[in-house]
Amino acid sequence: MNKISLKILIVFILISTAFYFFSASNTKHSTAIIWNPISQQHTMEGQPENANRVRYIIEELKHQKLWNKVAVLQAREATDAELSLAHSKTYINRVKQWAEEQKDKYLTAEKWSPYNGPHSAISASTAAGGLIQLTEAVAKNEYKNGFAIIRPPGHHATSEKGMGYCIYNNISIASLNLLNKKLASRILIVDMDAHHGNGIEEILKGRSDVMYMSFHQQWMFPYTGEKSFENIQNYNLKFLMPENFHLDLFNIEVTRVAQNFKPDFILVSAGYDSHWRDFMSNLGLSTNAHALMSQKLIALADEYSAGKIVFSLEGGYDLEALANGVSNSIKALLKRDDFIDTIGKAPQN
Ligand SMILES: [Zn+2]
Repeated sequence: MNKISLKILIVFILISTAFYFFSASNTKHSTAIIWNPISQQHTMEGQPENANRVRYIIEELKHQKLWNKVAVLQAREATDAELSLAHSKTYINRVKQWAEEQKDKYLTAEKWSPYNGPHSAISASTAAGGLIQLTEAVAKNEYKNGFAIIRPPGHHATSEKGMGYCIYNNISIASLNLLNKKLASRILIVDMDAHHGNGIEEILKGRSDVMYMSFHQQWMFPYTGEKSFENIQNYNLKFLMPENFHLDLFNIEVTRVAQNFKPDFILVSAGYDSHWRDFMSNLGLSTNAHALMSQKLIALADEYSAGKIVFSLEGGYDLEALANGVSNSIKALLKRDDFIDTIGKAPQN
């Protein structure tokens, strides 16, 4: 090789290397997740809604090499004005006051959540702030879709009261924020948690720009959600309902409602406690069923809302089912179908 050829070769290698690093550093992830380790300080031993839930999810995402396939965003706190979209000022102040009074200990408190402590206020406002941030980013086309790995969960929190491990109603706050800022005009919320989202129903009922659908087990906490009305569609499911019945009902109903309502944004109350092995409910779903439900909602988002869909973590207390379930939902958001189910189907299925 003569000197000129060698120089050309070296220049070519340098340009190719520079191009490779330039394109690698500018890889645009289509899916974003959001979380903040600060919320992990809100935890109490012996309570099923604890920091291990998010720890297991993140370990599983790293184990399955999904962590570097998504943009990882850090959640910010919600402002008081944002929290006020769904909650009274009195309640927001009470949450903060309680956290200040606890100083360094966590206590069970039937007043408004099973337990609260010094970091509960900041953890809860960071969960709500994270979902606001992620939904705005997706609405503005910065990402195609996303998953908010946030806790404490939100769907039971009413305007005046926290309950069922929920302090602030993350989904209601994020929905009202999108609508107020005209980043969305018709929001479909699908709640796949085993429990009825009584807080979402209370806060968003009667609105023409939101449709809420809840698929929950009958005669179980919070003992609401028996009837459908206005913009609220409640599905009161029987114990040990066969998985294929549950999936058929879910698919038919979400398709019907999306066709009629034509949402321009879909939010998912992503609870995984409807898994058959989760001690909190007696529904018969497998991890694979959760993956198929996620896939269905993503397909509806593609059809009606230009792919705009955000999942927001609610319940799920069997750590293996939870971690597998969330990682499968994230695979579905990435348009992958290599789902895992290390537990299998319920014995009755
Ligand atoms: Zn639940």
